[in-house]
Amino acid sequence: MTILPNQTRPSPTVSKPLRTNPGPRTLLLALGLALLATMPTVSGIRPMGTIAKIPPSKAAESNKTLVASLKWTFGSKEQTGWKVYVPLMQRMLKTQADPETVEFVQAVSRWQNQQGIPPTGILDETTLMEMVKTWQGERPVKNPTEAMPDALVSIDRAALYDITREAQLCFVERETYMAYQDMVAAALKDPSLGLKKNSTGGLAADEPFLKIISAFRSQAYQDQLRRQSPDVGRAGLAKVSPHLTGQALDIYVGGEPVTTKDENRLLQIQTPVYRWLVQHAAEFGFYPYFYEPWHWEYRRKNSL
Ligand SMILES: [Zn+2]
Repeated sequence: MTILPNQTRPSPTVSKPLRTNPGPRTLLLALGLALLATMPTVSGIRPMGTIAKIPPSKAAESNKTLVASLKWTFGSKEQTGWKVYVPLMQRMLKTQADPETVEFVQAVSRWQNQQGIPPTGILDETTLMEMVKTWQGERPVKNPTEAMPDALVSIDRAALYDITREAQLCFVERETYMAYQDMVAAALKDPSLGLKKNSTGGLAADEPFLKIISAFRSQAYQDQLRRQSPDVGRAGLAKVSPHLTGQALDIYVGGEPVTTKDENRLLQIQTPVYRWLVQHAAEFGFYPYFYEPWHWEYRRKNSL
């Protein structure tokens, strides 16, 4: 079984039979080659070909530890482990395997190789940051600007997580809303999700999953939210939120609706609805914000 691509495997030693009586040119050449082989590389990094192959079972052991303990930072906040992102990782790596398996190691290794990072199969900080970069790069809303009023429509009360939400906070960009409705209709057709329906086939009043918690937020409202919680870092409330565009939806996926505590996010990422979104949201134009399981952004069809 091969998990590492050719370039990281030590090149086989070529053992040509030596001539019994090598001429002086051959000896000089051999000496030169021997010197070259012992010289350190300029950067001090060992040249490719000398990286020891990590046995897949050892790499799996490392992943089993790192999934719960890797220290890294996001938005100036210290993070521990990467368990919260396993469903998104599995999609990215095209595997259903759990992090502690050799199959996962093989999938990580393949992905690392595609990204041009050493294919160790270990999901270390470098690999995680590369994944974060990819997820962030796939988000449709890049430089949020406030939606024009005529681009917005109001959300049906029945689609709201909190039906008592102030009317001025119940707007969404038109195309985003249509895509959301198509996505909900598809989810309702999937019996494995067990979503409760109302008499017209929509989400039942007492079905919280997939309801809209928040959509369009004006700059004035975002500023107000930030004033209410001034201590949040970059991973918390952004100064300029994608919600300004009306194309970002906070969708109920379980637990406390919008709390970033690991405990809460770990609960959310295990719900069938979240797992369904990870697999299917892109079919409807929605892409995740990896850090917040509830936050999805819509890519308009006419956008680049
Ligand atoms: Zn959001």
